[in-house]
Amino acid sequence: MKIIIIGAGPGGYETALLAAKRGVETVLIEAGPVGGTCLNEGCIPTKSFCKNAEFIDQLQEADKYGVGKLDFKLDFSKVTERKNAVVEQLKSGVETLLKNKLITLVRGRAFFKDVRTVSVIPNVPSSETQMESEPIPEATGTFPPAIPDPAGQKSPVPQDYTADYIIVATGSVSSSLPIPGADLPGILTSKEILDIDHVPNRLCVIGGGVIGLEFASIFRSFGSEVTVIEYCKDILPRFDTDLAKRLKQSLGKRGIEINTQSQVTEIQIKHTGSEEKTEYEITFLRKGKEEKVVADKVLMAVGRRAALNSLNFSDAGIETHSKGVKVNEFMQTNIPHIYAIGDINGQMMLAHAATFQGIVALDHIMGIPNDIDLNVMPAAVFTSPEAASVGLTEDECKEKGIDVKCLKSFFRANGKAVTMGQTDGFCKLVVSAADGLILGCHLYGPHASDIVQEACALINRKANLSQFQSIIHTHPTLTEILQSAIHG
Ligand SMILES: Cc1cc2nc3c(=O)[nH]c(=O)nc-3n(C[C@H](O)[C@H](O)[C@H](O)COP(=O)(O)OP(=O)(O)OC[C@H]3O[C@@H](n4cnc5c(N)ncnc54)[C@H](O)[C@@H]3O)c2cc1C
Repeated sequence: MKIIIIGAGPGGYETALLAAKRGVETVLIEAGPVGGTCLNEGCIPTKSFCKNAEFIDQLQEADKYGVGKLDFKLDFSKVTERKNAVVEQLKSGVETLLKNKLITLVRGRAFFKDVRTVSVIPNVPSSETQMESEPIPEATGTFPPAIPDPAGQKSPVPQDYTADYIIVATGSVSSSLPIPGADLPGILTSKEILDIDHVPNRLCVIGGGVIGLEFASIFRSFGSEVTVIEYCKDILPRFDTDLAKRLKQSLGKRGIEINTQSQVTEIQIKHTGSEEKTEYEITFLRKGKEEKVVADKVLMAVGRRAALNSLNFSDAGIETHSKGVKVNEFMQTNIPHIYAIGDINGQMMLAHAATFQGIVALDHIMGIPNDIDLNVMPAAVFTSPEAASVGLTEDECKEKGIDVKCLKSFFRANGKAVTMGQTDGFCKLVVSAADGLILGCHLYGPHASDIVQEACALINRKANLSQFQSIIHTHPTLTEILQSAIHG
């Protein structure tokens, strides 16, 4: 059996590695650097920034811990250097893993020649460095793509590849707003803000979802004045509303100004002073009233959409809808030998979702049964404090007509959190009133992203309250927050 995988993000490269482990020959095609969005411009670089932010927050509190007030200055170039080194280290790790005799890594832009054949325009050597440092922008949507023809270079000849199965894992791209000024120079995407060379004095973040809030939290710690503008009633629209409200207050206490129910209508460039220092004026409507924010940098973080222009899906007869490529529960498209995993199917835009969807697809191809439940998908928000969630929210249960009770506990009563001086946060367990099954866990506070994993395991294994009550937790640990929620 032979498989072609298009896209080497956490969906594509992890699936290629698993296929190779199982003895399947794989052609992995990637137009940019391996690791995709996650490794090059998403999960990893942002979490490197988060570590700097956490370190700075701790330094600010030095006096509280008996080392006196520290006088320090942030050298932002070092922050970026560290982030780049982290990315490079992990990328070279992935490249090493991919040097497997069953995996052929093809560097170039793929498109469907027909449903069995994928053509690849190889990356030209002169653009190799650029391709290496920068994931490819979304294609123009014309196929075959224009063949790059740098002066003096021979145009690369497209290469055809065929296989028994094809897995598409071409990811997503940042969305923008259809408003005047959204395309002004200097309006940053989540990728561009990772490479700015200074900390802006005033940062305006449009969008109070996961990505927007992570950057808001990071740059607040770096010293920016941060304003977030969110269209919906609450931040983190798909999270538990209780959690979202409390996290908003918590971020507010850190000095992040969050405007919800606010619709951005226009962005204008303002020039001030003799140095022509660029400023942006962001106009938004809050409850019908026009308000304005002035900022030195604007981050557009209004979500991501499946990269439907990354391949000529319709030429290949692959059905799509507004969210992405249509797939069944096995990640199979309407063309039985073509699968679509990760952000490209628009189901759950998370790196671990992409990886696990890849396992589901490969198992289906190989006829291997599994009990992966893609509905029990943990998600974390790496703000300070962190937030995390798994399973059903209280509102979702109401919508589904499930009678639930919600059990809560607070980090201020957790011994370990008090010793850490990080008592802001709570945990909410959503439990079925009928049979005590744990249906959801939503929390924010220190290490929420790690704690949620225990709840994820319990929900995945369909544990009920009394089973959970009998599990011993080490004292003093943050995970005792789950135990206290259960004991009430
Ligand atoms: C700022 C930010 C922070 C994030 N933080 C987190 C986090 O903390 N945790 C988390 O779980 N998720 C996070 N995400 C989301 C996560 O990055 C994505 O869900 C994940 O990368 C999706 O994986 P994928 O394999 O589907 O696609 P991608 O990682 O996007 O990979 C797709 C690959 O396909 C390649 N490609 C596209 N078209 C072609 C073509 N025609 N030919 C060849 N190659 C092609 C691209 O170059 C790319 O490398 C974050 C995202 C962003 C933007």
